[in-house]
Amino acid sequence: MLVLSSPSGAGKTSLSKKIIETDNNISMSISMTTRQSRPGEIDGKDYHFVNQDEFQTAIEKNELLEWAKVFDHHYGTPRRQVEEQLQKGRDVMFDIDWQGTQQLHEKAGQDLVRVFILPPSVKVLEDRLKKRGQDDEAVVKRRMRDAANEISHWAEYDYVIINDNLERSFEELV
Ligand code: 5GP
Repeated sequence: MLVLSSPSGAGKTSLSKKIIETDNNISMSISMTTRQSRPGEIDGKDYHFVNQDEFQTAIEKNELLEWAKVFDHHYGTPRRQVEEQLQKGRDVMFDIDWQGTQQLHEKAGQDLVRVFILPPSVKVLEDRLKKRGQDDEAVVKRRMRDAANEISHWAEYDYVIINDNLERSFEELV
């Protein structure tokens, strides 16, 4: 199991997509979330978009391997898809935050490799979030505030990559 964590805008999504394209033996874990889908996001591919009741039911039925509240919304990893892939001998990659990573680490220990992706600077991070144009100004502000919190957990990871260049970061990650 491979975890990639970072504040949003650090390039984690681009890196994970590249890994999926080039490595046939790894699958992406598709999380469940209560947040609204962004333009272009596809239900069942980017996330399983659910309402609060559905999320609560998944927790109660112990269907989530880990879950956390991030930016006022709930996110969690459906257990079954992960177990199915691992049983087939495939690797699984997770794009989850530090809280979920701690939970997976407690459960999986040595079977988990944790990688933290850092932006080259706070300024670059803000520029990337604005350029992405997926979130309005208030959301970008909020995400910048939360980025500081997420970044403070970098030392809990096995590897840290500073993403100043996508190609180089990708090589490092591989
Ligand atoms: P976004 O809303 O930008 O897609 O994701 C916000 C944050 O939630 C990101 O840091 C992402 O890694 C984290 N996240 C996404 N899915 C999960 C999940 O299933 N569990 C946890 N703990 N965090 C998640």
